[in-house]
Amino acid sequence: MSEMMKPASERQLLGHPQGLFYLFFAELWERFSFYGMRALLTLYMVDVIFEALAKKDFATAAVYSSYGSLVYASTVIGGRVSDSILGMRNSIFLGGILMSLGHFVLAIENNVAFFLALSLIIAGNGFFKPNISTFVGSLYKDGDPKKDSGFTIFYMGINIGGWVAPLLCGWLAAAYGWHYGFGLAGIGMLTGLIVFWSGIKKGVFGDKGLPPDNGNIDKKVVGIKQGILVPVLAFVSVPVIAYLLSSYQALGEEGTWLGEQNIVNIIFKVIGISILGYLTYIMVQATAEERKKLFVAVLITFFMTIFWGFHELSGSVITLFAARNVDLEGIMSASQTNSLNSMWIIILAIPISMLWQWLSKKNLNPRTPYKFGMGLLFAGISFYALAISGASANADGYVPFMYLLLMYFLLSVGELFMSPVGLSKITDLSPKRIVAFMMGVWFLSSAFAFQVVGFIGKQLSVEDTGGAINGFATLSVYTDGFLLIAKYALGAGLLVILASPLIKRLMGNVH
Ligand code: GLN
Repeated sequence: MSEMMKPASERQLLGHPQGLFYLFFAELWERFSFYGMRALLTLYMVDVIFEALAKKDFATAAVYSSYGSLVYASTVIGGRVSDSILGMRNSIFLGGILMSLGHFVLAIENNVAFFLALSLIIAGNGFFKPNISTFVGSLYKDGDPKKDSGFTIFYMGINIGGWVAPLLCGWLAAAYGWHYGFGLAGIGMLTGLIVFWSGIKKGVFGDKGLPPDNGNIDKKVVGIKQGILVPVLAFVSVPVIAYLLSSYQALGEEGTWLGEQNIVNIIFKVIGISILGYLTYIMVQATAEERKKLFVAVLITFFMTIFWGFHELSGSVITLFAARNVDLEGIMSASQTNSLNSMWIIILAIPISMLWQWLSKKNLNPRTPYKFGMGLLFAGISFYALAISGASANADGYVPFMYLLLMYFLLSVGELFMSPVGLSKITDLSPKRIVAFMMGVWFLSSAFAFQVVGFIGKQLSVEDTGGAINGFATLSVYTDGFLLIAKYALGAGLLVILASPLIKRLMGNVH
């Protein structure tokens, strides 16, 4: 049968279900809005929102960390609600609408609007991000070898958005004003929704992503249909999240038992302990074989947390370093440097996945723990490159751009050694009955990573440099910090490699 004669949901494009390309473009535009906004966020807080504060770097680091942690943690709730009530399509629409609203509210230059906008994005991302990723998987039959390359194509879409958006939004913000940059991010998100909607109209998803057939969506709770209650609750949660975000002040003093923590830090400590408790309970009940694999799944999630903890500094400390200490004259603005990670991922994703295939044929494909150890080593070397850049600073304390470019190259290689590999291993290592929960834990690795980002960001606040916020006044604060990060990442990488023979044994037949 010719492709045109088949129903839309069965038509193929480049050997993949046609629906993949609608999801590809929808996610491309969603990530366009996410990363376009992220490129501006830290500088906007330092220059506008917290301009009047004495400790503006500290406040910025705290809010950035809470935002990042909540934006990834909300995906766990969004995934659950979709599975049991809304279904993927409705969730993606709800998430997309919340996120577009968030970006447009961000275009209003006002502090209350700022916190409400970030909260809309947090709630929206929770519904959008996990569901569009699961939707990709649902287009393929279980065990379809095309699924992996489908995900690689999808990861490309993510990074095309992440590459172009900081360049455009950064340029608009610098040339016309912050709100134009944020406004473009909002238009990006709306475009993503329109693409998704047109896919549904053309029938490319068949009957995929509809609400689960348990009828929960029409069942009433407190007299209201759950399908209505969920969006209402999502909107009601917005001011609550905004309150959490705006409580960035430390509850205690340095040295006391509370330390310099805020409410969100404490919430994440409680979540962390609860998850560890629950996992211990599951492990006690599991069979010996399951227990070993589950332990490895927890380990690789932990390693991923360390990696993202350093990687996600790109939108905060590294953007500030780029603004204050990198010679960007005639190249790009500090916010635009946020595009470099995605640029390298686009260049490297296919060669690295081909490398694994080539090594597999020779039976030399390194097993997962080695890849994770090497990923952390790459992160360490990348921060080492930034640490030594100080020696090449010019007379004003600005280091050559080459160092930043090299740093992002090394970090992106590390990312490709870990992130896509870990994602597929988590499903292989988790007992089927808790695989969805483990996927949530995997997403939480990014959430906890932002707690690390906040901690480091606070340590590297430069308000104590006598008022000067660029040149030699800040250079050594950053380079000393980068050296310490490099040592930690290299140490962690080395430990993982040393422990690999042991971890390998626990993994059994999983590669
Ligand atoms: N860059 C990837 C994305 O945006 C992963 C980010 C993360 O999980 N921290 O989807």
